[in-house]
Amino acid sequence: FSKNSGNVNITMYNRSMTDTIENSVALEQKIRIALEENNLYFVLQPQYDTKTRKIRGFEALVRMKDEYGNIINPASFIPVAEKTGLITSIDNWVIRNSMLFFKRVLDITNENLILSVNISVLHLLNKGFLDEIQQMLNETKFPPSNLEIEITESVFISSMAKAIETLNELKKLGVCIALDDFGTGYSSLSYLSKLPIDLLKIDKSFIDELLVSESGRNYVEAIISIGHIMNFSVISEGVENQKQLDILTNLGSDFMQGYLWGKPMLPKDALKLLGVSDEIIKSTLLA
Ligand code: C2E
Ligand code: MG
Ligand code: MG
Ligand code: MG
Repeated sequence: FSKNSGNVNITMYNRSMTDTIENSVALEQKIRIALEENNLYFVLQPQYDTKTRKIRGFEALVRMKDEYGNIINPASFIPVAEKTGLITSIDNWVIRNSMLFFKRVLDITNENLILSVNISVLHLLNKGFLDEIQQMLNETKFPPSNLEIEITESVFISSMAKAIETLNELKKLGVCIALDDFGTGYSSLSYLSKLPIDLLKIDKSFIDELLVSESGRNYVEAIISIGHIMNFSVISEGVENQKQLDILTNLGSDFMQGYLWGKPMLPKDALKLLGVSDEIIKSTLLA
């Protein structure tokens, strides 16, 4: 009997492994089709300035539709895209299309709003990366100082010197740099001071702890202090309720992003949030 149950276990283990492989092959196929048939789209999540309570800008987040119209979230397809190298095409699709849209937002509103885009580590370290960004900026006539590129700490683990060099070149173009998911990776103070970044994004996992424990609150306070000592601005991610907002305001978080202020939304809803009239929204989306 025990031998049998051992066999059953082995079979189940193998099956789940096969499932995973089949899943990622299927996902890879879905990504290729989505890229070819333009079944990617992006949503925009507002970021708020704590002091003025005005919109600072928006983060563009990718979404994918499969052949049945199901929406697939990045958490499930980005890892596969990174493994297969398709991430570069995805990132570039999001950057180009969100810049095209956001250039119109800047023209219509005449406000100094920031567009934040996420760049995968693998993409940032690509040889052609800087040229591509430069070309997309030219092509879309997007003002570089209104573009912010979000990277994660993993970029420095894989290749510190190359990453810093690339970021310095980006800064020369006038683009801003944000360090995303801060606190979840390899954070050492000595390397932090060497990074050419403008903004620290405190990861949601720390914001979640704010109301849970004293130490959770202390961590966030410490991160904000470190950020400010290093002359970075600090944004809190995943702010979901008023209590968190109040604490973060007291602790001096410069900006906020989270469901409390707004979930990621379609471009037309971002225009609405900015107070753009329905008529202009229609003509903007048709353009
Ligand atoms: P991220 O860049 O850290 O983005 C924040 C994620 O938290 C987003 O998930 C956002 O929808 C979610 N979020 C924001 N506020 C709240 C909140 O108050 N509560 C909760 N529960 N969640 C909140 P999303 O859109 O699913 O994206 C997940 C991750 O996928 C992103 O994390 C980013 O790492 C990656 N990603 C998204 N778009 C792109 C892209 O175009 N390129 C690359 N390379 N990565 C992307
Ligand atoms: Mg991000
Ligand atoms: Mg993040
Ligand atoms: Mg993330």
